[in-house]
Amino acid sequence: MKSHLFLRSSDIPENLKVKDMEEIEQLPVAVIGAGPVGLAAAARLVERGLEPLIFEKGATAGTSLASWAHVRVFSPWKFNIDAAASALLAVTDWTSPDLNALPTGGEIVREYLAPLAGHPAIAPYITYNTTVTAITRSGHDKVVSEDREAAPFVIRWRDGAGRDRRSLARAVIDASGTWDQPNPMGIDGLPVPGEHDAGDRIAYGIPDVLGQARDAYAGRRVLVVGSGHSAINAALALLSLQAEAPGTRISWALRRNRIDKLPGGGLNDQLPERGALGLAAKRAIDENRLEMLAPFAAERIDRNADALTVTARIAGETKTFEVDRIIVATGLRPDLDVLREIRLALDPAMEAPTALAPLIDPNLHSCGTVPPHGSAELAHPEPGFFIVGSKSYGRAPTFLMATGYEQVRSVVAEIAGDHEAARQTQLVLPETGVCNGPEVPGTLEVPGKAAASGCCGGPAPVGVQACCKADADAKDAGLRGCGCSDRATAETPGVPA
Ligand SMILES: Cc1cc2nc3c(=O)[nH]c(=O)nc-3n(C[C@H](O)[C@H](O)[C@H](O)COP(=O)(O)OP(=O)(O)OC[C@H]3O[C@@H](n4cnc5c(N)ncnc54)[C@H](O)[C@@H]3O)c2cc1C
Repeated sequence: MKSHLFLRSSDIPENLKVKDMEEIEQLPVAVIGAGPVGLAAAARLVERGLEPLIFEKGATAGTSLASWAHVRVFSPWKFNIDAAASALLAVTDWTSPDLNALPTGGEIVREYLAPLAGHPAIAPYITYNTTVTAITRSGHDKVVSEDREAAPFVIRWRDGAGRDRRSLARAVIDASGTWDQPNPMGIDGLPVPGEHDAGDRIAYGIPDVLGQARDAYAGRRVLVVGSGHSAINAALALLSLQAEAPGTRISWALRRNRIDKLPGGGLNDQLPERGALGLAAKRAIDENRLEMLAPFAAERIDRNADALTVTARIAGETKTFEVDRIIVATGLRPDLDVLREIRLALDPAMEAPTALAPLIDPNLHSCGTVPPHGSAELAHPEPGFFIVGSKSYGRAPTFLMATGYEQVRSVVAEIAGDHEAARQTQLVLPETGVCNGPEVPGTLEVPGKAAASGCCGGPAPVGVQACCKADADAKDAGLRGCGCSDRATAETPGVPA
């Protein structure tokens, strides 16, 4: 591999032209983000003898996971380790974790991502504390078509000292995730009045209420907003805190009235820990250990000296109540500003690639099981540019690391010109998700399906536009689908919102 360092100059001419495609192919492939999927992409590039150029805005690999280090994931190690990464690590003194154990976010960073990022085949190609701020084609704004494909990509990035820099790349794999772009509290997708001003008392995501953040929550009145796994996780952790600090009061607000639809696949979910989370939450509600507010639409937040006054529509009535802290876990969204000069084909609602969006749209189905997909579904009108990993799911909440590993295997094969390998599917995903809504006329009746039973039957066959096997079977039989549609909402339970 040739050294990429010369490409990091900030003196690259604005309209640099690379003489021919051969010369472009000498450039590295830019990977944005050193999370699990970005590093898997790097491992795949190395495997194919291509040079990665990895930009990570945090100080270490796995920066997003480090912020939820205390959370135990629901997929065992065997689904969380990429095959190409594992092959690289196997020739070092790395000790593989127990593949059936469930790691925390912190353990994934320590036991997998840190050794991978430190691997001699990858470490020289990562720069930390570098934030990608924009991507374009050299000498071509979005409008210009002439010779567009012959122009290399230009990556604009800011270094740790705040200086703007540029690098060139033959292709770009955007694996920058969505963790830094939480949805606000407003049911309309906007922050409610007063939300910004109350920012120091609002946590977005899953604060470590039993550890680092304990003092901020113990004995306080806490409002949790959201219905995905992050919200469930936060509510359950607060219940544990309540057992230690009985003054802790927990109100849990669901933006829509779907208490009965909390994730709870239990034995029907092949990731049993994920089903168990939902079931534990349901138990706590039944035992009145936490107050449920649903359907809930926050209208404003006012700060006063000691508390936050929340005004909200709750079950159709306007109510005002006080809390000390709010945890907002209403989902995540991709940062598209950085891609302003790239020609994208994104679904207008999901903000995911148009071919992928119908497979993951919670308006269409609530299954967490998505057929494996690759470069074809992830392609944009900008050849050589791909969004992968959790960012590829846009606003949909059901992403799994294993899905991302298959995405990058295919995308890197495509970039390497191995179109046949790019088209193959090499992944069997566990059956996940719970399709537990009311029966929908014209949908497949799944034998034994009860209110909270799983209906997925596993991933849909490759190439079929369906969310799961049951959905594919139903469509094949001329029906509308498996019956998990028409009831899911933007807050549909899935992989953490
Ligand atoms: C609490 C929680 C639990 C989860 N549990 C599971 C589970 O059990 N199983 C499962 O398979 N999945 C799970 N997921 C979903 C998913 O697998 C993870 O979110 C995973 O971290 C996604 O990996 P990623 O590489 O796509 O993105 P990330 O891990 O978010 O990595 C993106 C990286 O890009 C960097 N970055 C962002 N913007 C820029 C920029 N502009 N320039 C440079 N670098 C940038 C970030 O610092 C980060 O390091 C969980 C998610 C959450 C939040």
